[in-house]
Amino acid sequence: MAQITRRSALKAGAAATLAAGVGGPAMGASGAWDVVVIGAGVFGAWTARNLQRLGRRVLLLDAWAPAHARASSGGESRLRAELPLFHKSGILFFFPTREEYVAKTIEVHRRLKLPTAVLDRRAMRRQFPQIDFDDIEIGVYEPEFGCLMARRAVQSVVSEFVEAGGEYRRAAVKPVGGGDGTLRRIETSDGEKIEAGQFVFACGPWLPKLFPDLLGTRIFPTRQEVFFFAPSPGDDRFSVGNFPGWADFNGGDIYYGFPDLEGRGVKIAHDQHGPPIDPDVGDRRYTEGSLAEVRGFMERRFPALAGRPLNEARVCQYENSANGDLLIDYHPKRPNLLLLGAGSGHGFKHGPAVGRYAAQLLTGSLPEVEPRFSLASKGERQDRSVH
Ligand SMILES: Cc1cc2nc3c(=O)[nH]c(=O)nc-3n(C[C@H](O)[C@H](O)[C@H](O)COP(=O)(O)OP(=O)(O)OC[C@H]3O[C@@H](n4cnc5c(N)ncnc54)[C@H](O)[C@@H]3O)c2cc1C
Repeated sequence: MAQITRRSALKAGAAATLAAGVGGPAMGASGAWDVVVIGAGVFGAWTARNLQRLGRRVLLLDAWAPAHARASSGGESRLRAELPLFHKSGILFFFPTREEYVAKTIEVHRRLKLPTAVLDRRAMRRQFPQIDFDDIEIGVYEPEFGCLMARRAVQSVVSEFVEAGGEYRRAAVKPVGGGDGTLRRIETSDGEKIEAGQFVFACGPWLPKLFPDLLGTRIFPTRQEVFFFAPSPGDDRFSVGNFPGWADFNGGDIYYGFPDLEGRGVKIAHDQHGPPIDPDVGDRRYTEGSLAEVRGFMERRFPALAGRPLNEARVCQYENSANGDLLIDYHPKRPNLLLLGAGSGHGFKHGPAVGRYAAQLLTGSLPEVEPRFSLASKGERQDRSVH
């Protein structure tokens, strides 16, 4: 993937419009929107943009802002011209044993012709001496992969959508309630009624609150803590170019992290699902227990970071389906209402593909929903098998 940069003063103008919470031309006198997309996270933003490319008149709404601080797509810097959306740091997955997942990963990468190096312990030590690989047998290194700047990337998509004539507004949409048949309109919290031919609810961890009967027991928002540590002064061993994005599969108890991106610090997180969280009122302060756990891991795996100060911590959420697969399906009683979500901690990179897929479904070029994304495939008991 080539490095993408924000380009023009025109885009800076669109960014200002976004910050103000309005954008694009007002709805014409010709009646309802073709599609209203509710939720301007990565899934909603890409869906709106793809529908627009297919000629649909689209209104994009968010109760707060694109990729705001409590959205699952939040995190990272704010929109500014000429900063990259993608850092090509390379990604290293490493494993204590040559498990089945390794073979499957290599097979998929070869099939897709993705540049991939399979490294033994000695090769990993040579390439990344700042990582302790003592208990590690094998690694899979993807030099073309890297880290997306999540918030900036979503804001960029929404800016493009607005520049191309789409309308984005800040508005909180009320739950649609228990009726059935074609949904004609939605209502916002300040009483505005908005009509459209189709509706997309891409509301991330808020989906179970908007559709409690349907999704209250099928999407499980969990509390996830991430930490950023400062390397030693002058130490660039953890910078992009020297240190990859990484995941330590650790016998199934996964840790992952990123290099020191744009001076924020070296990111480290435990990928285990945390306790349940309400995205509106959940406490966003980190816990000392989680910090101690991550610090213990860090000191073992990255000895040069031992004792280094915490720069920052964030509490985010995963909105998990039972098995970790995405939800892309119509509401069973509302044939023109598409539910989009359950990113399950790995949805971000799929944003463009999810948006394209949803737009194809809504415009009829895909006849039916892929079974693994269907509501019917979503269980009521967590049993994560898709990572
Ligand atoms: C710590 C962490 C690490 C992650 N790491 C990765 C990774 O390495 N790779 C990866 O691919 N993915 C990763 N993910 C997952 C990824 O970020 C999510 O799957 C993805 O961002 C989900 O996007 P979304 O659009 O479904 O939800 P969100 O971004 O939460 O967007 C939903 C939007 O809906 C809006 N909304 C809700 N209710 C209403 C309403 N009533 N009216 C109007 N608007 C409403 C919200 O304000 C919000 O903006 C990670 C997530 C976290 C938290």
